[in-house]
Amino acid sequence: MASHKHNEPESDMALRVKAIEQLLSEKGLVDPTGIDRLIELYETRVGPHNGARVVAKAWTDPDYRARLLENGTDAIAELDVSGIQGENMVVVENTQNVHNVVVCTLCSCYPWPVLGLPPRWYKSPPYRSRVVREPRTVLEEFGVEVPSDVEVRVWDSSAEIRYMVLPSQPEGSKGKSEEELAEMVTRDGMIGVATV
Ligand code: FE
Repeated sequence: MASHKHNEPESDMALRVKAIEQLLSEKGLVDPTGIDRLIELYETRVGPHNGARVVAKAWTDPDYRARLLENGTDAIAELDVSGIQGENMVVVENTQNVHNVVVCTLCSCYPWPVLGLPPRWYKSPPYRSRVVREPRTVLEEFGVEVPSDVEVRVWDSSAEIRYMVLPSQPEGSKGKSEEELAEMVTRDGMIGVATV
C-alpha cells in the first residue's frame, strides 16, 4: 500500500495553498496582505447574515420572492450582495411538497456571497456522496425529518451554478419585521440541512 493518506485532504490542501502563495509572492505576482484581506473579508464581513437578509425579504415581499426564484443572481444583487462564487445563483424554494438540500458532489462549490465560507462537513466526502444516495437518512442525522409525502430534491452545485435554499417561513412568524425574521434564518437552513 502507498503511504499516501487519503483522509487528510485539509492539511494537504492547506500546505499546497501556502506553498503556492509563497511562490507567487516571492515572484512578486501577488501581494500576501491582499490575500489575507480577502480571506478576512469572507471570514468576518461576508457570511450567512447576507443570505438571511435575502430570505427575510423574500418572506415579506411576494414580488421580491418571485424575482428571487426567477433570477437569483439579480435579486440577490438588489440587496448589494454579490461577488466571486456567486455569479450564477439559483434559489430553490422549500414548500409543503418539496424539501431542497444542496451539495457539491465534486468538491466544495458554495455560494460565498450569501453564506460565507463552507462548513467543514459540507466539504467532507461522506456528506457529498451520501446526501445524493440517501438524502432522507442524512437529513435525519441533521435532525430534519422530512415526511414521506414530501419530495426531497438534492441540488448539485458546480463551478457554473451555486444553489441556495429559500426555507419555509416558520409558523407564527407572520407580521415580524424583516430584521426579526433575518435573525431566525440559519446557514444550515439555507443549505437545506435544517428547517427554520
Ligand atoms: Fe465544488
